[in-house]
Amino acid sequence: MDVSVFGTGYVGLVQAAALADVGHRVLCVDIDEKKIQQLQKAVPPIQEPGLSALIDDNLREGRLSFSTQPGDAVTHGQLIFIAVGTPPDDDGSADLRHVLGVTREIVRHMEADRILVIKSTVPVGTATRVLDVAREALAELGKEHLKVRVVSNPEFLKEGSAVNDCTRPDRIIVGSDDEVARSQLAELYAPFCRNRDKLIFMDNRSAELTKYAANAMLATRISLINELANLAEQVGADIESVRKGIGSDPRIGYHFIYPGCGFGGSCFPKDLRALLHTGHVNGFQMRLLRTVHEVNEEQRQVLFRKLQKHYPDGLKGKSIAVWGLAFKPNTDDMREAPSRYLMEALWHEGATVRAFDPEAMSECRRLYGYRDDLVLCATRDDTVQDADALVICTEWKAFRVVDFEHLASKLRDRLVIDGRNLYNPDQMAAAGLHYRGIGLPSVAPLASAS
Ligand code: NAD
Repeated sequence: MDVSVFGTGYVGLVQAAALADVGHRVLCVDIDEKKIQQLQKAVPPIQEPGLSALIDDNLREGRLSFSTQPGDAVTHGQLIFIAVGTPPDDDGSADLRHVLGVTREIVRHMEADRILVIKSTVPVGTATRVLDVAREALAELGKEHLKVRVVSNPEFLKEGSAVNDCTRPDRIIVGSDDEVARSQLAELYAPFCRNRDKLIFMDNRSAELTKYAANAMLATRISLINELANLAEQVGADIESVRKGIGSDPRIGYHFIYPGCGFGGSCFPKDLRALLHTGHVNGFQMRLLRTVHEVNEEQRQVLFRKLQKHYPDGLKGKSIAVWGLAFKPNTDDMREAPSRYLMEALWHEGATVRAFDPEAMSECRRLYGYRDDLVLCATRDDTVQDADALVICTEWKAFRVVDFEHLASKLRDRLVIDGRNLYNPDQMAAAGLHYRGIGLPSVAPLASAS
């Protein structure tokens, strides 16, 4: 099938490459000229395992192409994906400017019927709004004879495993009451349903809500375990034992119950705020989800608070090593990353940050530029040279195995604050380190090690 995709971010680009890989002819459009120039040379603008090869293969095979011309995309694709950003507005609602702008652009170039497929995460009612905007624009341009169909097809990929999630989806939600649209989407996704049918058809509004409901559910699990972790610290329990104890119940499972330094990224915080806003404008207070959001706001400060507790005289002049800048492993995305809340609080107090991340160093430089209180180190071990303490923000695999004695010999104050509970407290204490995890009992460093 001929498919066009507006927006070559995490969602648009990976989806486009996955569709091209099963044989569809996909044309991607973006307003970012530099991005498109790079993509035409098979250079992806983001770090995702497997993405580079997927783009390269499909570009060479001629199934995937990139352009800055919306007209080309509208002519090319009978199905047109909208995968542009929906950033939060000041009141927390999803800003639909890009989605509606693209809709008008598509209509301007339309010379035949088209199916618009909304991949962006959008509030309930957006498909209806897109249809209204499209019909209005068609009427203004004297093209009422053309038909626009709108499908809500939310995306569930996870950054860090986006290619795998798009090429092997668990489920494909198709929101539309239109039989033609449903059968076109079924044909498009048939190659992804060879071992079992993954398509779940529903109406547009339910599809839109499904995406927010999924993220709300996952965010709730994270805030719950974080709240329990904070309680565990008060009562002297070990949240890691509790996590295993509850995760082994198949009704609960192990996913999304890792205690940590709060959820971040481009989706959970934004989508939660947008869902709360949807409740609010509909006169419905979502009390549980408001608390999930508030618990997370506090949890984002947990690493800094632990440092403050250790340094009651303040952090001015301290040098703090930070491992992990991305909001999670296998991505360079730092949107709402826990590392940012920590670093900004440290800078505010007059501390210096010595940071390392396997992928997100350029992104960090892009966000914060050159400043005296930010030293980006070439390796993880360089960060602890001349550092007083170490804080772990992201659970990259490369941080799992550590020579703790060496670490203790480098860190001036022998303090490790672990936002991901990567290490064994007894081993840390044996190495002479002050180790503070999330929801773990405090173990004093062994005197013999110091
Ligand atoms: P992104 O910011 O990485 O990419 C959006 C792209 O759209 C940018 O390249 C931008 O230049 C382009 N764009 C903006 N206006 C345009 C226009 N008029 N024409 C063509 N291109 C235009 O965003 P993303 O992370 O891919 O997210 C896109 C949507 O998908 C959002 O609604 C997001 O909430 C949702 N989503 C994201 C993820 C994720 O993990 N990132 C997962 C599921 C859903």
